[in-house]
Amino acid sequence: MSLTVRLPSPPQALSRVIQAASDPSVPLTVLSRIVASDPSLSVQLLRMVNSSMYRRGTRISTVERAVAILGNRSLRNLALCVAVQNCVRGGLGQFDLERFWEDSLRRAVAARLLAAKFPQHEIDPVEAFTFGLLQDLGVIALVQTYVDRSGDWARARGRTGQDRHREEAKIFGRAHDDVADELIAAWTLPPELAMPMRFHHHPARAPAEHRARCMLAGQAELLADVLTCDDKRPALGAARAGMGREAGLDADTVDALIGELATSVDEVAHDLGFRVGRQPTMEEILASANAGLVELNMSYEEVVRRLERALAETEVLSRQLAARNRELEQLSITDALTGLPNRRALSGRLSYELERAAKSGLPVAFAIGDLDRFKTVNDTHGHDFGDAVLRATARAMQGVAAEGELVARLGGEEFGVVLAGLDPERARARAEALRGAVGAIELPCPDGSHRRFTISVGLAWIVGPGTAPVDVDAVAAQLYKSADRALYEAKHQGRDRVCVAPAALPWAAAPARAA
Ligand code: GH3
Ligand code: MG
Ligand code: MG
Repeated sequence: MSLTVRLPSPPQALSRVIQAASDPSVPLTVLSRIVASDPSLSVQLLRMVNSSMYRRGTRISTVERAVAILGNRSLRNLALCVAVQNCVRGGLGQFDLERFWEDSLRRAVAARLLAAKFPQHEIDPVEAFTFGLLQDLGVIALVQTYVDRSGDWARARGRTGQDRHREEAKIFGRAHDDVADELIAAWTLPPELAMPMRFHHHPARAPAEHRARCMLAGQAELLADVLTCDDKRPALGAARAGMGREAGLDADTVDALIGELATSVDEVAHDLGFRVGRQPTMEEILASANAGLVELNMSYEEVVRRLERALAETEVLSRQLAARNRELEQLSITDALTGLPNRRALSGRLSYELERAAKSGLPVAFAIGDLDRFKTVNDTHGHDFGDAVLRATARAMQGVAAEGELVARLGGEEFGVVLAGLDPERARARAEALRGAVGAIELPCPDGSHRRFTISVGLAWIVGPGTAPVDVDAVAAQLYKSADRALYEAKHQGRDRVCVAPAALPWAAAPARAA
């Protein structure tokens, strides 16, 4: 190409810093003097050195310290990053400079991310950031040279790196990496930064010792493109395929890197004062890429692996859900204070036993126990002690309950017991055993004394068979009432005793609802 290219060039002050920092024989004291002589450069360098990109423990507040910590090479890289943002002010027609810097920043952050993720390449992440930021600078040279074609480039901006590259050749007769040599000379870039600029689209053509960084620059562009491109599908496909081929990464790892990149771009842009819009999240990218179509770009094994994992995840989730439901179910029938079954659990059990008794003709007994003078326990020793007594009562009653007997807390200081299949005499004996167990409780009170407790018990029973159809809910309610009356009698007679209802409850007392 014979036509000379109008090259973007670093501002003069920065040019001096870049030159001086590139010469290892220039002492750091001289370097800091050069930097300090330009206040806006000093501010930008300090901003950069204190950014999340550089992140070194304490805040650096003077140019001398920044230069001393950075050393020549890093200083040069940072100066280049500042220079590249200030190398052109406008006159670019329909070219959107701000969006171009956003795209460049994405490439830079992506390159830094990859350098950090693949330490085996031994590429300094800040250096990677620098070549990532510089690598497409040729675009500015081309647009600056052919301003009348800037609209064509603007239309190609949202395409993948490879497409843009092809479009540039059509629009300008050459692509951005074809003007790299001129830029490298104008900016006196060292090979570590020049090679990625020249060969990021063709890493295989790079000299062997620079191939890794050229490859990394190319992959950084693949990742950045996913955020930049309008159509996410080809961009995501290209990133996954490219990084799978070159770096052996699976699709999930590539997706994770893209997500990480989006977050870092926001962070670095904020730190460095780049104006960028909100970066798309990975969810948005996937939604827009349409997961079903993206899978066409995956290998068969990858699709199978993803499906299997999705199934496994579903299975784990439904197991967790089932366990949680069991837990909730358990909670809904358990009394929180004592851990005993609650009134709801007791109702269910009583209905079940009555159902069976109506057919078998065997008796069902039901007892209500109510702690005596419990109010005074609370009043004397406090509510917490009252709670402890309730828990001790629950333990004692549960401790003597025989298999098949259900002890529940009905509420307050009332307990209910279902005794199925026992005639009134044996049921009474069981009730006495429960009363005795409570009577044996001895608890140390807050005041140091020891206390014992008593309970009164009312017992009612029914004996079948019932006349079908039976309304067990109604029978249960009657049984409850009958036991309560017996309990009242026990209290009346002086407490700490069992009273049994005078007669079996007749099934007929509960007429069938449906009859
Ligand atoms: P009685 O011998 O006639 O049954 O007398 P009582 O004092 O036991 O009966 P009353 O029904 O007058 O009082 C019951 C007390 O039980 C009143 C209430 O404060 C207390 N109580 C109810 N639920 C709880 C609880 O969960 N914890 C505590 N600590 N006390 C409770
Ligand atoms: Mg009571
Ligand atoms: Mg009581």
